[in-house]
Amino acid sequence: MHGKLYLEVPYAEKELAKSLGAQWDPKLKKWFYQGPVSDYVKFARWIAGNRELTIIAHEYIYIVEGTQTCFRCGKPTHVIGLGIGEHTRLYCNDDGSFESETIEDLVGYEPLFLSWVDDEKDIPPALLKYIKQKYNVRTGFSKTAGECFANHCDHCGVIQGNWYLFEEDSPLTAFIPDGPELRDKLSKLKIYSIGIDENLVLDWNFGMGDNDELYFKYCPTKELILPPSDDAYITYADMYKP
Ligand SMILES: [Zn+2]
Repeated sequence: MHGKLYLEVPYAEKELAKSLGAQWDPKLKKWFYQGPVSDYVKFARWIAGNRELTIIAHEYIYIVEGTQTCFRCGKPTHVIGLGIGEHTRLYCNDDGSFESETIEDLVGYEPLFLSWVDDEKDIPPALLKYIKQKYNVRTGFSKTAGECFANHCDHCGVIQGNWYLFEEDSPLTAFIPDGPELRDKLSKLKIYSIGIDENLVLDWNFGMGDNDELYFKYCPTKELILPPSDDAYITYADMYKP
């Protein structure tokens, strides 16, 4: 798998980055590497920052839309999650070295990893703008989690807690059904796929669950053109400077 990835190269390290094959984008004033994703590990110091695990999304990112019964007013309200599909994981070892692993169609299915963030700054600006306009998502306050980015009820406005929506052992979440009605419940979710021109580093929380392999099997999926792009694949520049 190949792809372009922008790097955070400090000025003092530009010659080193260049010698390894990084290229300069004069328009964005940023270094990038274009090549096999298995080479990303060579550029890890300019990708990973302080992260122990870095997630680099390939080709698509996703919005997963569902309906949750509001615990306060009892009405059905829209809720969304985010999704990561194929991606590369960059691990930082204890000795400071890096290794990478690419998760693609390894086991015969296309996985979707349900994701979310507690801090809205971790969502690329164009995507954040879109979901804030379309859904009742914003930074709110929950008694258990404190200040966090979260879904809120369309009707009464109460926060729909992140643990409640996204943890696998949470009861009654729209996103992670189980039991005999699993297939039926998954078919009521909608997945919107957003094509990305360049690979993206995402600080999104995701866990691995039993349903990872089932979302694309049972949920209807639709392509979404994310403004300000008018193309099915949004560029890094449009994603970060809308
Ligand atoms: Zn409500």
